[in-house]
Amino acid sequence: MRHLPQLFANNRAWASRQIRQNPEFFARLCAIQAPRYLWIGCADSRVPANEIVGLAPGELFVHRNVANVVRSDDFNGLAVLQYAIEILHIRDVIICGHYGCGGVQAALGAPVSDPLEHWIKPIRAVRRRHADDIDSHTDAPARWRRLCELNVMAQVQGLSRLPILAAAWAAGRCLNVHGWIYDLKDGLLRDLDVSVTRAPPEQAA
Ligand SMILES: [Zn+2]
Repeated sequence: MRHLPQLFANNRAWASRQIRQNPEFFARLCAIQAPRYLWIGCADSRVPANEIVGLAPGELFVHRNVANVVRSDDFNGLAVLQYAIEILHIRDVIICGHYGCGGVQAALGAPVSDPLEHWIKPIRAVRRRHADDIDSHTDAPARWRRLCELNVMAQVQGLSRLPILAAAWAAGRCLNVHGWIYDLKDGLLRDLDVSVTRAPPEQAA
């Protein structure tokens, strides 16, 4: 190949390694996709979803975008969610943010150009809604960290109010939405304790 030969060499080595460890590896993956979890995370290259939770290919359905935002007008994200819930019957959706998120940092600064500005608008709204909380932190890194957390919490709330979730809960499905944050400094995940396991009160019949 003419372009990026190193990546193809890496790929051949990886495929060989998998087959050495388990000759049925690819045959099994082709036969069925039955992940138990949907991961909605940031596109940041330092947060590789499968690796940090120790799951193999086939075990985690993954959607990533800038700053792990869930938007009701994002057909890409909504289609992933629909597929995960209706076809794969996923029971746990994990929204995972991370400290040091560039998308969140952008939402703390001056407007940037579209489409990024359009994309991070919901994070600016979170920043406005929680101005007192965020501004109670005296230094900029602490405010940034706090907005990373608040953004995850807001996305969990927003996701749990989407019609597709309401429909699943109304049908009696077991479906949980979790909010986690990953720390680049030590590689550890933290549960923000904002899990939603049933329809929010205003939606429940
Ligand atoms: Zn990020």
